[in-house]
Amino acid sequence: MNERSKSKSLGICRHCHVRQANIRLEYARLNLCEECFSKFIERKVGKVIKKYGMIKKDDKVLLALSGGKDSSTLLHIIRRIMPETKITCLHIDLGITGFSEECRRKAEELAHQENVELEVVNLKGFLGHTLSELATKYKKICSTCGLIRRYLLNYYGNLYGATKIATGHNLDDVVAVLWDFYVRGDLLEASRLQPVTQLIHPKALLRIKPLIELTDFELKVYADLKGLPYTPIQCPFGRESKLNSRKKLINVIESMYPAFKHTLLKSHIKRVTPLLSSLIATERSNWGTCAKCGMPSRKNICGMCRLKENLKNAE
Ligand code: AMP
Ligand code: ZN
Repeated sequence: MNERSKSKSLGICRHCHVRQANIRLEYARLNLCEECFSKFIERKVGKVIKKYGMIKKDDKVLLALSGGKDSSTLLHIIRRIMPETKITCLHIDLGITGFSEECRRKAEELAHQENVELEVVNLKGFLGHTLSELATKYKKICSTCGLIRRYLLNYYGNLYGATKIATGHNLDDVVAVLWDFYVRGDLLEASRLQPVTQLIHPKALLRIKPLIELTDFELKVYADLKGLPYTPIQCPFGRESKLNSRKKLINVIESMYPAFKHTLLKSHIKRVTPLLSSLIATERSNWGTCAKCGMPSRKNICGMCRLKENLKNAE
């Protein structure tokens, strides 16, 4: 099992061969001390950024800072390993009762600590409704929330002149979504899930996931070791979500088949995606422009403008 065990049972750290190991990474059969673990994680993020050409010298990154452990760790690591990178953080205050206030506070605390600019967008201000209010009208609130977040990140990314949008999606997140697409045989949708994604549209910013090879466990241990401000609370709408139950199921598989998640992601990127390259190219060019707001859209009117229209009609 992945766990931080009592030092004695893990022996000496496999990297420094000096200190006692107290962190076990089962998928890599690796026992590390805290110091070497931190370096290992930072190096891994650096490698992913390099491997996929995620951040270049002239990039201006809009980092989606949620107040959760993943995006907080992402900000901290990029500041450490690429201190020259121009970063603006964007926090979307979704107005989820009993949750969003804490997320916002943590995002503000971390941005201050890391000395980066933070923009806070209030959903109530943008749309006239909080997510808690929308939840009383829409059943599939998690997908509405996803649509809102994607739209706002791209919208403000353009507004601030960003060249990339970085999110804290990790290996567990990506594998849980891939799992669903593969089970349904929806390889086209699956192919959209990549470490770097871009649609062919002048207003579609490149989206990068520098934490895509790190697990939930690794990110939690790292964030706690560094004492980063983040909220441990889960979104009240997502707690019982299908995505979360899939994550649990995948962890059961992982416990019987170590490195299952890493293998699945690698196969997806290296073996499946290349077979679908022509489909992916068609899918990317299928995007047009929303007739109302000018943002990328697959339909004549984008999801956000349809949502706004819908809310107006319901008034
Ligand atoms: P989630 O879908 O909640 O796992 O979030 C995935 C990623 O989306 C996070 O790591 C953040 O980078 C970004 N994100 C989620 N919620 C917010 C938010 N309220 N404000 C800004 N970014 C967010
Ligand atoms: Zn629109």
